[in-house]
Amino acid sequence: MTQTNTPILIANYHTHTTRCGHARGCERDYIEQAIRAGVRILGFADHAPYPFPDGYNSGFRMRVEQTADYTETLCALREEYKQDIEIYIGYETEYYPDFFSDAMQNLCAYPVDYLILGQHFLENEITKIYSGAPTDDEGRLSAYVDQISAGLSTGVFSCVAHPDLLHFTGDNAIYETQMRRLCENAKRLDIPLEINFLGLKEHRHYPCDRFWQIAADVGNSVIFGCDAHTPDMLSDFGLFQSAAAYAERFGLHPQKTLTLRDPHSFFKKTTPISNCQTVCCNC
Ligand SMILES: [Zn+2]
Ligand SMILES: [Zn+2]
Repeated sequence: MTQTNTPILIANYHTHTTRCGHARGCERDYIEQAIRAGVRILGFADHAPYPFPDGYNSGFRMRVEQTADYTETLCALREEYKQDIEIYIGYETEYYPDFFSDAMQNLCAYPVDYLILGQHFLENEITKIYSGAPTDDEGRLSAYVDQISAGLSTGVFSCVAHPDLLHFTGDNAIYETQMRRLCENAKRLDIPLEINFLGLKEHRHYPCDRFWQIAADVGNSVIFGCDAHTPDMLSDFGLFQSAAAYAERFGLHPQKTLTLRDPHSFFKKTTPISNCQTVCCNC
């Protein structure tokens, strides 16, 4: 039997490029593979550049000085392929409170359509606490939920990539309490949670059954994300079917497309009326 894509994945918003240093294939390869696979919307969300202090270099994200080339390349390809596919320019980024404003200044100086929140590290990566490291520490789990919740409150993120990245090995009741908080906060803000194909493909600790049981119970909206680090992931129909079966197990019905939230809103916050000092405004 021939495997087909439609209608499992018509849009993917989680695509990387070589700029992060650990993905393969140029943008054109991803775009052409997506078109062949019947994907109609392709969002690039490479690991965002982060201007860290003291010249700190991540090693797994594009550098700040690559931002211009990333956007120029994608703008040109968006125009070239506009008859065949919709292309969006985004980033997968962490919410690191100390450096987030500087990161947004850089990202928003260029064309950018959306951001997805992938909280790969707690606090920030200079402190080097990887979210995916096994832990039975409730404090670490709670900090992960707090940080994601604070990130979502900025209003700039369109979805949460692999929300189940935190690899908690402890008690079910603790996991339930903390992750329910994450799911409820995402639901309150109407932000979808991503079932991550890369984790599924590589049999990582995510997608995590107990997480998606909670998400189903809370009633979160859900989106599929390829997390493509190679073009062939965009046409891995067997993987798409596994993901569909996984969602089905929990009674989840992933939405086909994402509502994109404008990252520039970060700089358009209105002044709360109670803080208004203007004499003439009559508020
Ligand atoms: Zn990556
Ligand atoms: Zn990620």
